[in-house]
Amino acid sequence: MAHPCMSCGACCATFRVSLHWSEADPELGGGVPEALTERLDAHRLAMRGTWEKQPRCVALDADIGRYSRCTIHPVRPSVCREVDASWEYGVVSAQCDKARAVHGLRALTPQDWPAQA
Ligand code: SF4
Ligand code: SF4
Repeated sequence: MAHPCMSCGACCATFRVSLHWSEADPELGGGVPEALTERLDAHRLAMRGTWEKQPRCVALDADIGRYSRCTIHPVRPSVCREVDASWEYGVVSAQCDKARAVHGLRALTPQDWPAQA
């Protein structure tokens, strides 16, 4: 069974994705492409597209609910790494459930993760 995120992408098209500017500074070890960000405030950047009324990250390659991939997955912002899919680690993820609901997708259940069901 494919990982549910591979056919979703909802969270990348629901929330503003902000990050500390250092995450896009190679001299400080930051790997997020600066060109894909915009200035949010004195200390933070936002992934382009996620500060819109209908957010959608510029790095997202997806047809929400059908297929999804992050085109900068190995160097995505830290906040992106912190969003777990519901029940992937045995607990509900409010962000996952909310994002999926925004896009008309049902919330994941333990049955979506056979090893834990
Ligand atoms: S909303 Fe949930 S299932 Fe969808 S991509 Fe994000 S974490 Fe994965
Ligand atoms: S950087 Fe990647 S994981 Fe983060 S919101 Fe954009 S597409 Fe999603």
